[in-house]
Amino acid sequence: MQPDACSQQPSCEVLEAVRFPILTFDEWQHGRTPGRGFNPDWLLPGESLISILWKFACANALPGDVLMRTMCPDADPREGMIPLRSALDPNQLRRLLGLPVNVLRTSLLGRTSGDRYHAAFRYCRQCAAHGYHSVLHQLAEEHRCAAHRQELRTQCLQCRRQSPFIINSSVIEAPFRCVWCRSHFCYGLLPVRSTTPAMRRQDRLAIQDRMRLRLGRDASGGSNG
Ligand SMILES: [Zn+2]
Ligand SMILES: [Zn+2]
Repeated sequence: MQPDACSQQPSCEVLEAVRFPILTFDEWQHGRTPGRGFNPDWLLPGESLISILWKFACANALPGDVLMRTMCPDADPREGMIPLRSALDPNQLRRLLGLPVNVLRTSLLGRTSGDRYHAAFRYCRQCAAHGYHSVLHQLAEEHRCAAHRQELRTQCLQCRRQSPFIINSSVIEAPFRCVWCRSHFCYGLLPVRSTTPAMRRQDRLAIQDRMRLRLGRDASGGSNG
């Protein structure tokens, strides 16, 4: 594991606390607590699959390669895939994450004309501070966050590199962080409770409205108010 940039930041106890143990898939399945998984209260409208998987992996102390092998047994965990509807089956994801299929379908990008997307991971710093990444952030024609009106960024503020918009074991082990230098995408301060939906109601509504405008009825599954 790389030296942890987190160790200089006192505000990241939560993600420190869930530092990933090395488990085989069988060990994880065996020790899995029934009912533990993904709390729907953590979900924000239009949340992307990678954002959901980061919370799920943290909540279950699940190493990236174990999660990848569980989710896509046929794929190489280090290579992974782009989270598109053509690559991942929402019904299979539902069995793992316990979330409704329409939420999971919304969390993936399609290949329709309205869904042209960025190949690099794109983020709003304030959303990252809330432990949230939106499918909207990846759409080519979106330039600002619907909630915070901040410019969407692709470059890491520390190393200036871009993280790819893919799901693989390294990306899963860098929640809301640059995959190269592990700096956090927000203002350097991690939210103490990254899984709490601390986003203001008006911000959630703004995202929801934008989801409806951009993705039509598809968006309905990604919102919980
Ligand atoms: Zn934002
Ligand atoms: Zn970086």
